Parts: sequence; C-alpha cells; structure tokens
Amino acid sequence: MATADVIKPGTARAPVPPFTPEHEELRETCRRFVAAELAPYATQWEEERWFPQEVFEKMAAAGLLGLKYPESLGGQGGDYLHDAVLVEELARCGSGGLAAGIGAHIGIATPPIFKFGTEEQKERFLAPAIRGESIGALAITEPDAGSDVAGLKTHAAKVDGGFLVNGSKMFITNGVRAGFWVTAVRTGADPRHGGISFLIVEPQEGVHTSKIEKLGWHASDTALMSFDDVFVPEENLLGELDGGFKLIMANFQWERLLMALGSVEGAQAAFEKTLEYVGERQAFGRPIGKYQVSRHKLAECAVQIQAGRDLTYHCLRLFHAGQDAMREVTMAKLFTQRMCVDVIDDCLQLHGGAGYMAEYPMERALRDARLGPIGGGTDEIMKEILGKTMGL
Ligand SMILES: Cc1cc2nc3c(=O)[nH]c(=O)nc-3n(C[C@H](O)[C@H](O)[C@H](O)COP(=O)(O)OP(=O)(O)OC[C@H]3O[C@@H](n4cnc5c(N)ncnc54)[C@H](O)[C@@H]3O)c2cc1C
Repeated sequence: MATADVIKPGTARAPVPPFTPEHEELRETCRRFVAAELAPYATQWEEERWFPQEVFEKMAAAGLLGLKYPESLGGQGGDYLHDAVLVEELARCGSGGLAAGIGAHIGIATPPIFKFGTEEQKERFLAPAIRGESIGALAITEPDAGSDVAGLKTHAAKVDGGFLVNGSKMFITNGVRAGFWVTAVRTGADPRHGGISFLIVEPQEGVHTSKIEKLGWHASDTALMSFDDVFVPEENLLGELDGGFKLIMANFQWERLLMALGSVEGAQAAFEKTLEYVGERQAFGRPIGKYQVSRHKLAECAVQIQAGRDLTYHCLRLFHAGQDAMREVTMAKLFTQRMCVDVIDDCLQLHGGAGYMAEYPMERALRDARLGPIGGGTDEIMKEILGKTMGL
C-alpha cells in the first residue's frame, strides 16, 4: 500500500514517490484482480500443491503479465514501477507459492530475454510468455552450487549447430510447469565467472523435472531438474557466449528489489489482520489489543514495516532513475526478508493458539515468509556483498 500509512490502513494520502496517481489506479486494478481471482482459491491451490495454468491466462487477459514490456510484444508499454505495484498487490493473495510462481515468470525468467535477447528470441519466447501461453523459469541453482553461483557445473558442449547440455539444477521455481528454462550453463574454459553462458532450454526428451516438497510456498512447483544429452540450438544462446555472469548480476538487483517489495507488503497484510484480531479477541474482559504489551508489540511492528518500506522505495527510486543501487538493494533485501519473518511471528503470537492453526492466515504466512532470508541470495551472502562494498 503506497499510501505508506501502516498504522491506519486506508488513510488517504498522496502516493509516495516513485509512485504516482497513475500507479495507484493500477494498484486498484491489481487489488481487485487478486481479491477476485486469486485470494478465494489460495487455500485450495496450497492443498493441491499446484495452481492452474488458467491463472496466467487470466492475468494475460487483464494485461498483467506484460506491464513493463512494449506493446509490440503484446505488453502494456509500462516500466518496472508498474511491475512493482503488481508485486506488492500479489503479496496479498494469501499464498506465497502462488505469488512466487507468478513472480518467477514475470520478475526473473522473462527480464533476461527482454534485456539480452535477440528480436527473434523475444518473438519466440517473450511474446507467448506475455500472452500466458508459455511459462518461464530461471534455472541457475544446482545441487552443488547455490550461494556460490560461479561454481555451477551444468555443462554445455559445443556441437554442430548448437550445444549438448548435461547436468542438473535444483530448487527451480516453475521448474515443472515451464515451457522454457532460462538456464545457466558452463561453456568456457574458465572454471568460474568467465565460463558461464545462458541457454533457453525447451521441453524435450532428456529434460527431466520433479517437484520437491517444502516448508512453505506449497502452491508453487519447485523443481529438481536434470539434463541428459539435451540438444539446444545455437539460436537459443541468450546474450554473449561466456558472458552469462553479467546476465546473472543484472537480474539479481531487480529480483532482490521485488523480494523486498513483496515482503514489506506481506508484513503489512499480516499487521492489518492482526490489528483487526486484537480489537476483537477478548481475554480477561477486554480486547487483547488494549493490553499495553500488545500495543507496544504492534507499534514496534509498524516501525519495522515503515523502515522496510522507506528503504525499499529509496531503492526503487534509484533503480527507476537508472542508478546503480546494488548496495542499497542488498541492504533492503537483507533488512526486509528477516523483518517480514519477525513481524509475522509477532502477529502469530498475538493470535495465540489460533495463530498456530492452518485455519488462520498467520500459520501459512510464517511458513511462506521463511524463504525470504534464503532465496535470491541468503542473508549471509547479502552481508558478504555489503562487507565488500566497505572494502573488507
Ligand atoms: C523455494 C525456493 C525457490 C527457489 N527458486 C529458485 C529459482 O527459481 N531459480 C534458481 O536458480 N534458484 C532458486 N532457488 C535457490 C536459492 O537461490 C538458493 O537456495 C540460495 O541462493 C542459497 O543457495 P543454497 O541453497 O545452495 O545454500 P548454500 O549455498 O549451500 O548455503 C548454505 C548456508 O551456508 C551459508 N553460506 C554459503 N556461503 C557462505 C559464505 N561465503 N559466507 C557465509 N555463509 C555462507 C548460506 O548463507 C546458508 O546459510 C530457490 C530456493 C528455494 C528454497
């Protein structure tokens, strides 16, 4: 909620920059879509461990899959700020896995094609992705290379007309349902950063995927993948040969910023529900919100959310202005992911036993939020990056 009033939700205020009244109109559209098409089914899809393809089709019909992409490719001709609004609103859908599946498609799998792809690749992969016909996944992490991205081993040998890929990938969001995987592979002689390229891999014999059970994000398919002698034609090379590390780095800033936006709004949604709950729930003859300890806890949560929002919007303004925001985005990712877990944990505590029950939203919210300090680069890696910016 860009009105940035965590204490009294809904209080009318001018939009907080970089958002404008136009973004707030889009927010209304997104909020209505989430309330009508996603939130009512969140529990069902969590239980089914899957959400239907139809979600992407409906989002495409509403123009929500291509907000930042040009009209020539079927997009809406907007920019990253429009996607930021959508991501904030998706955080209110009631399922981290659903938001993650949609987010991986629009936020991490398709941007590298837009930024580094040829016109032909954009037509073949991005346009159908914007139409919701083909879903994307970004496949970087491997069983033996997560934080240490440059240690990835999946190998692409140069053969006549393309590459022969062998190896495996781990924890890939949308990995089972994907119609294409934007995949990091090792092509060069350099065993580290300088030997990585990206290939757009399409479903075929030799590509195997399986879903992994996990603590949260139940509606999303997180995949273990293997490639056994998979032929990828050379026209599917994305960006420069052996220049893939640049592509990984380019995407990280936006991915981490998206995660920060989602976590601030996730914490905000939990806060609002808890504010309502403590006003209704009685103990010892009065609403639990009337106890000073509850009031103080919620006051602390409000400060944490506001601090996270301000830091995140600061990054968004820098990013939108085209400035290098690596240091600030790293801080925002680090701060907001843990903040979200802590705020939701406090909210769960204020719900008492009900907070622990699947019937109430805090139980799922806490499980889903726990991914934040791990995915997209762990807290420890964020601190390592910040340490390096200090010359340490
Ligand atoms: C649900 C889910 C969805 C995901 N989706 C995707 C996806 O779509 N695409 C994709 O490519 N990846 C995805 N990932 C992978 C994710 O980005 C990695 O899990 C993450 O980067 C951490 O890597 P790792 O799991 O290998 O942990 P490891 O690198 O094995 O780290 C284990 C622990 O060691 C710590 N550690 C590692 N190195 C250091 C160091 N130098 N200093 C201090 N501590 C260190 C870590 O912080 C961590 O606490 C997903 C993961 C999950 C859980």
